Amino acid sequence: MRGPIGYFSSSYVEARQKFLDTCTSVGAPVTHYLNPNGVGPHNEDLVTDVACIGPSNAELLYIVASATHGVEGFLGSGCQVGFLRERLFEERPRNSSILFVHAMNPFGFAHVRRVNEDNVDLNRNFVNHTEPYPIKAEYELVHPLLVPEEWDGPSRASADGKISSLIETHGLAWYQSAVSSGQYLHSDGVFYGGQVPVWSNQNWRKILAKFAPGRLRIGFLDLHTGLGPYGYGEPMFLSWPDMIQYERARQWYGDDVTAPEAGDSTSAAVQGVVAASFKDVDVNAEITAIALEFGTVPVLEVLDAVRADNWLYVHGNPLSSMGKTIKRQIRDAFYCDEDDWKHLVWDRSVDIFRKGLSGLGG
Ligand SMILES: [Zn+2]
Repeated sequence: MRGPIGYFSSSYVEARQKFLDTCTSVGAPVTHYLNPNGVGPHNEDLVTDVACIGPSNAELLYIVASATHGVEGFLGSGCQVGFLRERLFEERPRNSSILFVHAMNPFGFAHVRRVNEDNVDLNRNFVNHTEPYPIKAEYELVHPLLVPEEWDGPSRASADGKISSLIETHGLAWYQSAVSSGQYLHSDGVFYGGQVPVWSNQNWRKILAKFAPGRLRIGFLDLHTGLGPYGYGEPMFLSWPDMIQYERARQWYGDDVTAPEAGDSTSAAVQGVVAASFKDVDVNAEITAIALEFGTVPVLEVLDAVRADNWLYVHGNPLSSMGKTIKRQIRDAFYCDEDDWKHLVWDRSVDIFRKGLSGLGG
């Protein structure tokens, strides 16, 4: 299929093959990082593939990552394939290279889950695990409601009623923040940040250790979905309170860069994100990192899909007919399989990618 529609795939296996074939056709060498902690639903290997365009010792580096939240890789992989097929990498500045990190969390992508093989949200996992975790009193309040015993039955109905009255009392933004800001106590809960750096976290550090040393300037674009208006891509700054980097991100990408802490973002304030991880690794470069968040369906539908999928792996059976319904629900919440959405997200991602390359050049 020609044009942007053909860049997108309907499974991790298809997306990976498309990415690897495209890398071969443009002559981009690929490094493979096998996740040893599982396989995909069709027994396939779970691999993070990293393609490098340009000299490995260039002073400038731009990194585009997909599937930090597995299921969101349907979008991210499509954009990466498109950037390569349309040879947009040729617009990079002098003395630069580009890294395409395909499927940061290959387990989640293959199994159509936002989380990884440990039920961990990778974008909450980059905290300092040797320090006390942030206390999330609001999450404690909602946790029992988010994970009812049964999905079809009185415990779910009662939980839904209590959630509705909490939203009525405190507002939707309060509920979204209570659920999604990240928690470190309940491994069977949602938006769980884990207790150790998970495989994808350690792997990301390995990738940086190989490709980042010696660079003077690095731009990072992490592709996400699930928040905001249908098809709109919100450039989001998550490395607060690094105000110098924040100002630079706005210079590169424009005034529509938001920050949860500035109160103008569709996201709740979170910690432990990949975009903020550069400060923990041995990289001396000037960093400009953003997430690009594409809107799909209303936020309550998204949160409910995450909740349903979490229930499925804690109490249910993914192979049952209810399991299949829930898998469809979570896929639809993070990937709108519609031509108009794909055209919107493609045009916006190209716009942001070009701004990133131009900003990198200074
Ligand atoms: Zn995400």
